[in-house]
Amino acid sequence: MGWSTLKRPSDTRASQALCTNVQYVRGVGPQYARLIARLGIETVHDLLYHKPRGWQDRTQIMPISSAAQGESAMFAGTVTDARLKKMRRRGSLLDALIDDSTGQMALTWFNQPYIAEKIRVGDRVLAWGRVTSYQGLPQIVSPEFETIDDEGDEAGGPHQGIVPVYPLTEGVTNRRMRFIISNCLEKYSSSLEDFLDAAIIEKRRLVPLSQAIRHLHFPPSEKARLRALRRLKFDELFLFEAAMALRRENITRAGGAPEIKITERIDARIRRLFDFTLTPDQDAVIRDLAADLASTAPMNRLLQGDVGSGKTAIAIYAMLSAVAARSQAALMAPTGILAEQHYRTLSKLLREARVRFELLTGGTPPAEKTRIRRLAAAGELDILIGTHSLIQESVDFSRLGLVVMDEQHKFGVLQRARLKSKGTSPHSLVMTATPIPRTLTLTVFGDLDVSVIATGPPGRKQVSTRWVRPEQREEAFEFIRKKLSEGRQAFFVYPLIEGSEKSDVRSAVETAQELKELYREFTVEVVTGAMDSPSRESAMNEFRSGRAHILVATVVIEVGIDIPNASIMVIENAERFGLSQLHQLRGRIGRGRHRSWCLLFGEPATEEARSRLEIMSETSDGFRIAEEDLRLRGPGEFFGTRQHGLPEFKFADIIEDWKLLIAAREDAFAMVEADPGLARHARFKERVLESCRGRLDLVETG
Ligand code: ADP
Ligand code: MG
Repeated sequence: MGWSTLKRPSDTRASQALCTNVQYVRGVGPQYARLIARLGIETVHDLLYHKPRGWQDRTQIMPISSAAQGESAMFAGTVTDARLKKMRRRGSLLDALIDDSTGQMALTWFNQPYIAEKIRVGDRVLAWGRVTSYQGLPQIVSPEFETIDDEGDEAGGPHQGIVPVYPLTEGVTNRRMRFIISNCLEKYSSSLEDFLDAAIIEKRRLVPLSQAIRHLHFPPSEKARLRALRRLKFDELFLFEAAMALRRENITRAGGAPEIKITERIDARIRRLFDFTLTPDQDAVIRDLAADLASTAPMNRLLQGDVGSGKTAIAIYAMLSAVAARSQAALMAPTGILAEQHYRTLSKLLREARVRFELLTGGTPPAEKTRIRRLAAAGELDILIGTHSLIQESVDFSRLGLVVMDEQHKFGVLQRARLKSKGTSPHSLVMTATPIPRTLTLTVFGDLDVSVIATGPPGRKQVSTRWVRPEQREEAFEFIRKKLSEGRQAFFVYPLIEGSEKSDVRSAVETAQELKELYREFTVEVVTGAMDSPSRESAMNEFRSGRAHILVATVVIEVGIDIPNASIMVIENAERFGLSQLHQLRGRIGRGRHRSWCLLFGEPATEEARSRLEIMSETSDGFRIAEEDLRLRGPGEFFGTRQHGLPEFKFADIIEDWKLLIAAREDAFAMVEADPGLARHARFKERVLESCRGRLDLVETG
């Protein structure tokens, strides 16, 4: 299912027509219907929205006599010869000749003997591809081709002009598809009701829907094709954003969140806990929060700020405001180490306060878990810090008023919904240190309000980043020795690759051994995800206290470690990390008074890996890195997980079409604001709900 599908007949006759089984389209029939069902086509609507994988400009057929080597072109001719030859060692060779009265051309296929059945002497064919030459003749190797059989080849027919090329499946040909789609358009395109408001169509200069669908398949010109696509992209984005707008509205309208009023006294009491003054950006975020929290409409806010920008203080401020208003707060972190770090920060700040808080992670002993669960349920606990244990361990709160999620992009939308469902409707604040490109903020987190900490606390040192080539390693190790002798500490980070975790851990442990030998005068500790919590904690403590000088770690240190004296970070096999991850890691240094160095050890094998190392050496601007990362890897990979919650669009590409996305979002949100619950757009709303059914519970979970 997708954002262009329509499965349920709604009440009008026109839209019922679109739900007609595809077998009743002229030229289809039950048997062919079964074939194209494999392409996901079951109804007339599916067929109309069947997207060509490409188009071909047939107005440009070239005479064979002017075939130019190296160029891609299309030719039409009669097959004069077709032979399938067995080759001695390497399978088969199919050689065909076509003649168009200006000359002859060879069409050649290796190891595709089944094509011999499709190309016969006497056939008229169209063939296209890149022209090479063979024994003095122009040749195309593995051309695409199509047999011309006159039907529909008359001027204005479906195989003339700019023609669609469809994704196919066995037994389904392009000619047949063009034929049935053209029949389908003739009979049904007038049934396509334009579901967009006329005002939007006009404002965004969109073509009417039925025209867009006709020109999707058979565009009269390149310009018409692009305008058709633009309309269909807009539709998808608009439906998606309308779902987001409804979800937002649902959440807001539901109310039921506690009113958390932050008085001057409470504000002063919280600020007094910090041994620093909040920055102007932090103050601005707190103003956003305070306004949200004061309302019974649950807050739904995303806080973006680069590593080290001071998001923790915001989280603490928000949680303490909640506690002051007699609510409970939960803070969820993606790793045990990060949860522990938050717990420690809180312990330090709240030494003298009466706030009751606990830590619950996967490593918490069962008896302790039981105790904490009981406290939470009895309301004898103010703040609970934890990992996803918080959602897995069925913790019930008696009056959960605020949920904070740190490093949010690791949590899918569904998890967000699940933790929220623990309270009636708590306020929620999600924080991410991975700057999220704007287009993704509008999609994955499209139902959230966004605050940004653009400038972190003063005094952060710029981190110098160098890509260290293999021949420069010795030099780098000596440099590190010098820094260690000056009293600094160093991280050595190793990538963990899914599936080879064991061997990677081994390599981290082995390297630690090598480092111990290399740096005999210093102390080396190791931390890996495979270690149990106490030994990990003790290794971390050694490093944190400065007794250990080097910490060898797998990426478990990715987030949350705050050790200002550590000013060196070596990343081994840096080419195996994604950009955002490298940026995250680098954020662990440059936190103290000392100049910091990030050394990327790596031998990139691909152009892409090399450009990652170059970008890292060039910039420390998190947003730029995020945009580059998105560009290099594409949106699906960007989050590094399949549960990223990104919508799958058939026509739109959220990176390429970001301007259209922003326009669609503006219009969709304005529409929902002007027509709450889309009460006056019942059919459109049905379409929105239909589009997102079974996906993210987008509208329902609110
Ligand atoms: P992140 O946004 O990565 O979670 P943290 O909240 O861990 O960043 O903050 C990084 C460091 O900056 C911490 O040591 C924190 O105590 C310090 N910090 C936060 N806010 C301020 C501030 N306003 N002034 C000075 N230091 C601050
Ligand atoms: Mg943090």
